[in-house]
This record gives sequence, C-alpha cells and structure tokens, in this order.
Amino acid sequence: MKKLLYLASKNLGKISEYQKLLSDVNCELALQPDSIEVVESGKTFRENAVKKACEVSKKLNNYAIADDSGLCIESLNGNPGIYSSRYANNDKDRIRRVLSELEGIHNRNAYFIANVCVASPKGEIILDVEGKCFGTILLSGRGTNGFGYDPIFEELSSRLTFAEMSNDIKDNLSHRGKAICKLIPELKKIFPDY
Ligand code: IMP
Repeated sequence: MKKLLYLASKNLGKISEYQKLLSDVNCELALQPDSIEVVESGKTFRENAVKKACEVSKKLNNYAIADDSGLCIESLNGNPGIYSSRYANNDKDRIRRVLSELEGIHNRNAYFIANVCVASPKGEIILDVEGKCFGTILLSGRGTNGFGYDPIFEELSSRLTFAEMSNDIKDNLSHRGKAICKLIPELKKIFPDY
C-alpha cells in the first residue's frame, strides 16, 4: 500500500498540479481536512511553508508537504511578495494594481518564488527547498492560460508570459516546477517503489 502524503492546502486545483509534478513518487496525495485551519502569519514565504507543513503533519501524524509562493517586483520593494494572493479581491484587480503601481517606472524586473517544505509525521521539517523564476512585468497582459499574475509576467529565457505557455513548459521553467524538481530525489527515498 502507498504511504500517504498530505498536501497542506485546501485548494483542489493544487492537488491535481502536485499529482502531476509528483507522478514519479510512490505516495498517495491527500488534501488536508477542512477541519484544520492554519493561519499564514509568517513574514517570509519559507516561514509560511514551514508553518503549514508542521501544523498539518503534527495534527494528522503523517507526512505533509506545503508551499508558499508569490511574485516579487524589484521596483516595488519586493511587493506584492507574501501578499500576492491578498493584493486585491481577484486576479484581474491584482494585475490592475500591479500595473498601476508600476506606471512610469522603467525597472520592471521581477521574479516568482516558491518555497516548498516536507514535514515528518512528528512535525519536523525534513525537506526544505526554494525555486525562483526571473522575468519582467509587461505593460499589459498576453496569453490566456494559467492563473494569478501569469499574463503580465514574461519569463526571461523564453520571452513568453506564463499565460502563453503550455502546462508542461511552465512546469519546466516555473518557480514551483524548479522547487519540486529539487525535492523529487529525496521524496523517492522516503516513498520507495517497493
Ligand atoms: P499560494 O502560494 O498558492 O498561496 O499563491 C500565492 C499567490 O501568488 C497566488 O494566489 C498568485 O496570486 C501568486 N502566484 C503564485 N504562483 C503563481 C504562478 O505560477 N502564476 C501566477 N501567479 C502566481
């Protein structure tokens, strides 16, 4: 029987993304139960990921994986940063806010960051990785795929926005894809095939 790995999130979309990213790892992914509430009160992405993984694993006596991610813009002192999901009420308004804050500003360098942690059933962090993806913020959006800030973020090497990429290409280049790639060899040791 496969060992369980809880995803410290209530987001159904995230579990299908993780199922795909961890398809080579012999574990059964499960979403954290609704009854568990974790407050994201950390001052950094890493602190939030650590907190989510530790609290969920301790409560469930099981392995848990958690992430925290967001967009950091150089000219905005790293904002929206850890406030990425709370920068406005919906994706469209979040994009509008970023574009208006950057109006007239020449330096539009930005990066996406993802911190991903795995905690043991005792609530101790056993894996802790970070992935970054560099690019620039466009004057207006391009592309229709993805979510969040995808249409306005042009990735450096491909010159495509995340919203112009297929899921497979985004998984290879994105902050989350890079972080998970670092985790896979270690996860395979915890969840071996036999
Ligand atoms: P969370 O880590 O799932 O809480 O994501 C935080 C927020 O950062 C999301 O709600 C998005 O606004 C933004 N974000 C994180 N990753 C991406 C991405 O790959 N594309 C676009 N926006 C993202």
